[in-house]
Amino acid sequence: MLPADTPVLLALLIVSAVTSGFVALRYFASSGLFAWITQRVRPGLYDGKERQIGREIRWSLIAAFIYGTPAGMVFWAWNHLGWTQLYTDFSAYPLWYLPASVLICLFAQDTWFYWSHRAMHHPKLFRVMHAVHHDSRPPTSWTAMSFHPIESLTGALLIPVLVFVVPIHIAMLGVVLTVATVMGVTNHMGWEMFPRALVHSPLGNWMITASHHEKHHERYGCNFGLYFRFWDRLCGTDRGLSKRMVEQSGYGEKGVRI
Ligand SMILES: [Zn+2]
Ligand SMILES: [Zn+2]
Repeated sequence: MLPADTPVLLALLIVSAVTSGFVALRYFASSGLFAWITQRVRPGLYDGKERQIGREIRWSLIAAFIYGTPAGMVFWAWNHLGWTQLYTDFSAYPLWYLPASVLICLFAQDTWFYWSHRAMHHPKLFRVMHAVHHDSRPPTSWTAMSFHPIESLTGALLIPVLVFVVPIHIAMLGVVLTVATVMGVTNHMGWEMFPRALVHSPLGNWMITASHHEKHHERYGCNFGLYFRFWDRLCGTDRGLSKRMVEQSGYGEKGVRI
């Protein structure tokens, strides 16, 4: 806790630096954990990728700073000025609203990601903003936050803006951030952790896991979504799952043994 008479600018600076530190720690903890699991279940998958992983970590640390700065400022404004629609009292809204608020935020994030991501694949924007992320060929669990700073900025502002618009309990915001972290890492780690029964199920047809995002990194011009296949299907940009990953699992796209 900062002393009450800390100048606002200094307080914002400190809170932003601390939040950026947390984002960086979260990155190391989550990407490191799944890299360790990868080494156990797919030994050698990241062999020879030391240079790529070093690059991914450097971009991700810059991204952590860009993500942490607005998040820290908004957190301070919530704490000191009561701004935002964040709440802590579970009875402030009906209980059904708790999961609903998570879904609203995930859908908003997915929508923003789909359209900004698709725009970044325009050749002019791609070179400037998005080539860094696609430099990882194929991606690893360390690719999750490997973005050019301008791309990071497009992602970093969404949640801080969203909490001003969508009422959300602080614990549910924690759920949203956990989903974002886990899916961001596992969608890049090069193998499918979800059971085949889920990936090849009607629900799996609408959600994005590693098998789907890997295809984006193979083919570029398709599979732009983040969590759901809704926009990809609606806009005709869904090209199904990565053949390599489906073959690895021994099952065809429809879940039939191959
Ligand atoms: Zn990616
Ligand atoms: Zn892309």
